[in-house]
Amino acid sequence: MKPEDIQALLDEPACSHNKKSKSGCTKPKPGATAGGCAFDGAQIALLPIADVAHIVHGPIACAGSSWDNRGTRSSGPTLYRLGMTTDLTEQDVIMGRGEKRLFHSIKQAIDDYAPAAVFVYNTCVPAVTGDDVGAVCKAAQERWGVPVVPVDAAGFYGTKNMGNRLAGEAMFKYVIGTREPGPVPESLQRPGVRVHDVNLIGEYNIAGEFWHVAPLFDELGLRILGSLSGDARFRDIQTMHRAEATMVVCSKALLNVARKLEENHRVPWFEGSFYGVADTSQALRDFARLLNDPDLTVRTEALIAREEARAAALLEPWRERLRGKRVLLYTGGVKSWSVVSALQDLGLDVVATGTKKSTEEDKARIREIMGEKTKMIDDGSPTNLLNVVREYRADILIAGGRNMYTALKARIPFLDINQEREFAYAGYDGMAELARQLALTLESPMWESVRKPAPWHVMSAVEVVNG
Ligand code: SF4
Repeated sequence: MKPEDIQALLDEPACSHNKKSKSGCTKPKPGATAGGCAFDGAQIALLPIADVAHIVHGPIACAGSSWDNRGTRSSGPTLYRLGMTTDLTEQDVIMGRGEKRLFHSIKQAIDDYAPAAVFVYNTCVPAVTGDDVGAVCKAAQERWGVPVVPVDAAGFYGTKNMGNRLAGEAMFKYVIGTREPGPVPESLQRPGVRVHDVNLIGEYNIAGEFWHVAPLFDELGLRILGSLSGDARFRDIQTMHRAEATMVVCSKALLNVARKLEENHRVPWFEGSFYGVADTSQALRDFARLLNDPDLTVRTEALIAREEARAAALLEPWRERLRGKRVLLYTGGVKSWSVVSALQDLGLDVVATGTKKSTEEDKARIREIMGEKTKMIDDGSPTNLLNVVREYRADILIAGGRNMYTALKARIPFLDINQEREFAYAGYDGMAELARQLALTLESPMWESVRKPAPWHVMSAVEVVNG
């Protein structure tokens, strides 16, 4: 990839980070790839496309560092769960065999698994040795008649966010717009209901959470034409240009795809979230607004009224158990405020929230929801997090998996809110699951046991007293 192409991607006019000094997509500083490189970002953005063979062209460690690190679920094919790599070795580099190995790897993937398409991820080593990944993909596609898509996202091109964007760019360049959608399936057709085609971008079906929301889309007559990329199929991504509206779900990194769909194919878009009752309702309302269908608006309001009443009943028993519990939330970006409102909705007191990856707009939103005096945490080091937990007397730390041991070693209840989590929190039913998991975590009898002094410490104290 040429430096000017990378520079152009860093300048995303639709992204609010662009206007601020603290951009989410700035050039990485030395060591920044420890938090995930551009290749890692590209692969996690596309890996949920379940019927594709995802080949990592590079040393095997690259594939190992990113494979399956998002608990994304598929309702059908499971090919995406198979880690594939060209496994470049020193000999391949010295002998210049990288392109040849890639060509044969693509053949092997097609012969053995008959994938809907093959995605080839470029990594640092072949980018440095100058393998022409694009040309190999083109030749393989012509030879075997299966779409082969180069995702040029070598780790050193930038941050994980940048990798998400490079992945989106590859989809826009090679996949979206290459097929027309099929007819509306009978299962979605209802007398008198007009079916609208919509896209989701940045929804990854982590722990299968979108399955909480999908039935509502079916009921409203919203066909999800393409999802980038939760529970996605290659054929669906090809048709995303024909949608009537796009929702960008909790993601700034893939705004480039939404913006280009609007500019090139006149597909309007909005940003939203499925975390929390209020945000889920707002997302459904925003679809009705963009689709400008009065009948859909009426049906959407009726569905929201019914679902909110149902959610209120589901949450009632948990509210009593959670009321007043103090939470330290350490997560990034949109989630820093969208999860706050979901937690407040449950009666929890969010005493501080992480703002490391948040924009000024995110921070303004946090102040609006939590008040001016709210504690915003930029420093996510274990020492600082534990200090804030003690200072603000937090009952629980809600954060990403990498903070789990910080909390557990300090004997503080912990709930994983990021991509590695096991439970599905999206939509109205997801809220009930979140409430349940919070209560189970906070009320676990384990905390009382682990906070007691160890028996051998008690013994030695007795021995000291007895001389
Ligand atoms: S792509 Fe580069 S930075 Fe990323 S894991 Fe591979 S070698 Fe490391």
